[in-house]
Amino acid sequence: MKTTKEEIEFIGDEHISNTVETPLRSDAFEKSDGDKIKNIQYHFSEIMKELGLDLTDDSLSGTPYRVAKMYVKELFYGLNPKNRPKTSVFENKYGYKKIVVEQNINIDSSCEHHFLPIVGTAHVGYIPNEKVIGLSKINRLVDYYAHRPQVQERLCLQVLKDLQQTLNTEDVIVVVHAKHLCVSSRGIQDKTSFTTTLEYGGKFTIATFRNEFLRIIEKNQR
Ligand SMILES: [Zn+2]
Repeated sequence: MKTTKEEIEFIGDEHISNTVETPLRSDAFEKSDGDKIKNIQYHFSEIMKELGLDLTDDSLSGTPYRVAKMYVKELFYGLNPKNRPKTSVFENKYGYKKIVVEQNINIDSSCEHHFLPIVGTAHVGYIPNEKVIGLSKINRLVDYYAHRPQVQERLCLQVLKDLQQTLNTEDVIVVVHAKHLCVSSRGIQDKTSFTTTLEYGGKFTIATFRNEFLRIIEKNQR
């Protein structure tokens, strides 16, 4: 389906997304990282040339390679399922049945509509069933899903769904507070606003559980 220029502007500025899964091509990982870096390097140098930049300049000549490597190995490493962190879970031997909260998890993501940074924090809570997870694994999982071209709502949902599956419980809650550079540095150029998204399932659909979690993260907010 072809999208008109007006629709493109609208989707970008309204930050609309319609799927939980990141829209990927079926051949997304057929090429090696090395080949992708080589191709992106070429295309990015074309963008720079089109902007009128002189790529023979010492300061600029390495930029296409640096950008290509940064895209594939850093900013968007989370696109490739082979980079998903191993989330070993353990038997809940001590029978802990209350909320576990991992908060102030750093978010470094990118907006898929403008390829500009999304920065903020995530807070994750769950009520263990028969499984518990190493706490740093939650941070790693958030980091993995953040390192894709994203929309904040989808990031929140992808972390929720993965943890629900990994922990074999619906009782998971995810909050993300983030600033979008595409809102602060262009368009409306609002420097102070930030966006909060909240996704949850299971016991967290009950207000008392949800409020207990929200009280904890509010009290310990930096
Ligand atoms: Zn954006």
